Amino acid sequence: MAKKVLIIDDSITQLSSLKIFFRRAGFEVETAQNGVEGFVNVYKTAPDLIISDVLMPHLGGFQLCRLLKSNPETKQIPIIVLTVLDKKLDKFWASQSGANRFIQKDSDFKNIIQIAEEICEEFPVSPRYKENLKNFEFDEEGIIPQINKILDDALMKSTITNKFRDLTDYTSDDKVIAEKIFKILSTIIEYEAACIYFHSPDYSTKRRLIFDTQNCKLKDDVFLDIWRQILPDCIDQYEIETVSENESDNIVENADEFQSRKEFDFYYENNLIGKVCFYSTQNVEWNKLKFMPAAKTELDLYLRLKYLYVKTCYLSITDELTKLYTRRHLESVLGQEFERAKRYGTIISVAMADIDNFKKINDTYGHQAGDYVLSEISKIFVETLRKTDFVYRYGGEEICVLMPETCIQNVMMPLERLRKNIEHKQFIFNGKQIDVTISIGATTYSKDMRSSSDLIEKSDAALYKAKKTGKNKVVIENE
Ligand code: GH3
Ligand code: MG
Ligand code: MG
Repeated sequence: MAKKVLIIDDSITQLSSLKIFFRRAGFEVETAQNGVEGFVNVYKTAPDLIISDVLMPHLGGFQLCRLLKSNPETKQIPIIVLTVLDKKLDKFWASQSGANRFIQKDSDFKNIIQIAEEICEEFPVSPRYKENLKNFEFDEEGIIPQINKILDDALMKSTITNKFRDLTDYTSDDKVIAEKIFKILSTIIEYEAACIYFHSPDYSTKRRLIFDTQNCKLKDDVFLDIWRQILPDCIDQYEIETVSENESDNIVENADEFQSRKEFDFYYENNLIGKVCFYSTQNVEWNKLKFMPAAKTELDLYLRLKYLYVKTCYLSITDELTKLYTRRHLESVLGQEFERAKRYGTIISVAMADIDNFKKINDTYGHQAGDYVLSEISKIFVETLRKTDFVYRYGGEEICVLMPETCIQNVMMPLERLRKNIEHKQFIFNGKQIDVTISIGATTYSKDMRSSSDLIEKSDAALYKAKKTGKNKVVIENE
């Protein structure tokens, strides 16, 4: 059966010659002289192929393409754009508008016919689709509102994209970034509560779920229930935070009160890098929400970016064996803390620890056993000390601790606890028990110090004293 082509062009001469050539080539031909008429005729004639000019009054070819490709009842019909425009940007714009092919008007007719035949073969329109299109109740008055709607949607989508792109300036602060993400999401998705989780490569820190409760108040148990649903594996190491709350009368006491929820998991190279979850006490068909796919795409892109950023930062300051911060990182942090202490009178203490007789451990049990001891000891440091203390691998088996806001009187207790925890820990490697102790030297900032290296030197001197006077002890140098 002959294929039906609808040719749309405001030039009568062009239209006539195309009509003649297509008829000769065996096509059934319909025509229209501008975009609006063309749009109406697509519904009236249900063609197999549309050939459209670009520059036409009322409705240009690219807009016509967008319109046809955004309607489910017309989007399967292939479109060839035929134009005098010849710039790269024109081709780009044609492809963005959904056109299947872009042809120069000065191409010879044979060539145009050949391409038309190829396109018909590549994108066949089924008789059923054409029948449905003809039976479609088409509202001619509705063209302009339709165009406006498409333009509005396109603009909204690019606005959402731009809002997400603005997030990159805040990537280092989870709470700020969560707040900004919720601010965008709450303008396009109607939820009552939502939460977000960013996965961090630093496993020693607690997992955090950050909540946004737009139109309800959640009872504490509900936060916990949500946590259990979302991150059941790390219920023993959680932290819940809220970034924005509304003064709402709607109190949710039980997680079951949420009629619907939508959870998105985001992955990068098979690793879970984040989760976003929406909750509503109404029955929401999340998948039908207009901008949900756009939001999901943007979140996916942003979370990957954030994950890579966080991972790069983490790797650049983390020692591989012990997972402690590196000495290089200590030097930059200590310099800043020293300046703060000098200028604002803040207090800072430093401790230097060294494993006792570590060479002997290596010699007796092997280097791998030494590595095991070193990494286990590092864990004890992190677990025993306060979250606000920072632990660094200073050298081979030397560990440095930075204790901000800790005066000399308060240094002994945590360090002594640390020393004891290590002394009493059972280190077992390959079935053999290894006895391990450490010596620690500590000091605190004093006004006569000239630079941060004075803090290191003084704590080193204290450590030397601990070693000289029997090891397995804490020595504090204060003068
Ligand atoms: P002391 O009680 O005086 O500190 O004695 P020590 O044997 O611990 O003294 P020393 O500081 O001389 O020895 C440290 C040893 O630690 C030497 C080195 O081979 C070993 N070491 C350094 N880094 C590592 C590491 O990453 N893994 C292992 N297994 N051993 C390491
Ligand atoms: Mg040692
Ligand atoms: Mg040493």
